[in-house]
Formats: sequence, C-alpha cells, structure tokens
Amino acid sequence: MTWKLDCGVYTLFVIEDGFYWRDPDGYHDETTERDWRFHPRNDEGQVRMNFGCHLITDGDRTIMIDAGLGEPTPDMPPGMTVGLMPGAVDELGIARESVETVLYSHMHYDHIGGSMRDGHPVLPNARHVFHEKEWAFWSEADSDGGRAARKVVSPFIDADLVDFVDKDTEILPGITAVESFGHTPGHLMVSIISNGTRTLIGGDVSNHPFQVEHPHWSLPVDNDQDLAGKTRDRVFEELRETGTTFVAGHYPMPGVGKIVTDDGLRVYRPGSPPKAG
Ligand SMILES: [Zn+2]
Repeated sequence: MTWKLDCGVYTLFVIEDGFYWRDPDGYHDETTERDWRFHPRNDEGQVRMNFGCHLITDGDRTIMIDAGLGEPTPDMPPGMTVGLMPGAVDELGIARESVETVLYSHMHYDHIGGSMRDGHPVLPNARHVFHEKEWAFWSEADSDGGRAARKVVSPFIDADLVDFVDKDTEILPGITAVESFGHTPGHLMVSIISNGTRTLIGGDVSNHPFQVEHPHWSLPVDNDQDLAGKTRDRVFEELRETGTTFVAGHYPMPGVGKIVTDDGLRVYRPGSPPKAG
C-alpha cells in the first residue's frame, strides 16, 4: 500500500515494503498498553509492525529513501510479508528506471535488502548513497549484520555505483541527508524543505512512537543506545519547535505525523495523508 504527501514541489510516497505481527510483550521492558495505542491489533492481540520506504519525485527527478527488506531470508520470523516495494512503485506508474538515487538511512538489512532481487538491482539506473561512517563500521563488523551489509553493498561498490557522504549533504534542491548517529554509526535522516513545507524522514532515528515521550528507551537494534537516545531527544525537540512533519518507516503505516505537546507531554500525533494506491 502507498500514501501520498505534499512536500512543496515534491510529492513524497510512503511505500509499505512489508509487515509482520508480534506480541507487544518483550519489545521493551518499560512499555505499557498505552504505548501501543497507535498500532493496529489482530484478533490474538498482536501488534502490526511495519517496514516502510519512501519515494520522492518532482515529476522530473525521482529518488528513493531506503529500499525495504526485499526477498525473504531464512532467519526471518514466519508469517512476514516482505518485498512489496517494486510492485508498489510499478503501481504508482513511476518507471523504476527513472529513479536516479537511492539514499539509505543506514545499512540494516530491512533498509538495504530490497535493493536487489534475483541478483539484479531493483532500481537499475540508480546510484546508491550512504554515509561513509556506515560502511566503515559494517564493512568490518564480524556479525550477521556485517555479513548481510557486505553481501548487498559490496556488489554496488565493485560496480562503482556508490557515493559516500561525510557531512550533511544536499541530494536534490531542498532535500538534504542529515547526520543523526546513534542507531548506527553513520545514520542519516532526510530533510525536505520546499515551498514553505518542512518534512523529516527519520530513518530509524526512532523505531517506535513511545520514543517521542521516552527518547531514552533505546532498543537492542540501537548500536549506541546512549547516543541514540540523545540524538532522538534533540531531533524530536527540533521537530516540535518547528512544526515539521515527521515520517517514520517503522511507525504504524503511513507513519506520518507531528510531534506536539499534549497535556504537558511531548507526543506523536499521527496524520492521515491520502492513499495513493
Ligand atoms: Zn529499520
């Protein structure tokens, strides 16, 4: 499923690459029922967890932010739906050949895995942009995450299809990759400022809406839990002060909302952009 958001001269499409259902218990020690209030539930009380990615176009130039999870892997929990991105792009009537850049928030598999299918790039003419600190870490990491990142990213590097950034970097006019380290060592968010609109695609700066209230409730997937909490707190404060729209691929779809003060608490307020397909 896809949703559509106006971002000045750009249109942002939220694309659901996949989802799964899980028991909310065990996700984080300190959560209560209230912390799961935004998540759809099934009959067994499980919550729906999402993998989102984001396509931005002005009708002429088109870029993708993260590529989703792609094909199922043997270590995935059973019952996961994954790899919906390519079909969703096709349904939007956007030629995959026209995507000129894929900008990746980081190298966790659920953000890079969808870039290849059957050994071929899903977006065949795209260059692939990462922060250089991200590759410096994952290229050396002796872990499943490191091996998975090398499997996906190395062929792109070998084919000279990768551009590394080492600071905040404008990708298209008004669209900037923004350093936001902590979840991973070279994590990037994407700021879109256009025609008076402000939108921030957070990547995994936050994986769950409860972190708006509790930025320091980090998760095992946060590489540096202390830094991840500090970065999150700073980002949410800026979003609240500036009224910027926040977009998060792991929040309940479409994962588009505002960071507001309600009853003295800083909270996530989901928006309701229209469906695009
Ligand atoms: Zn993720």
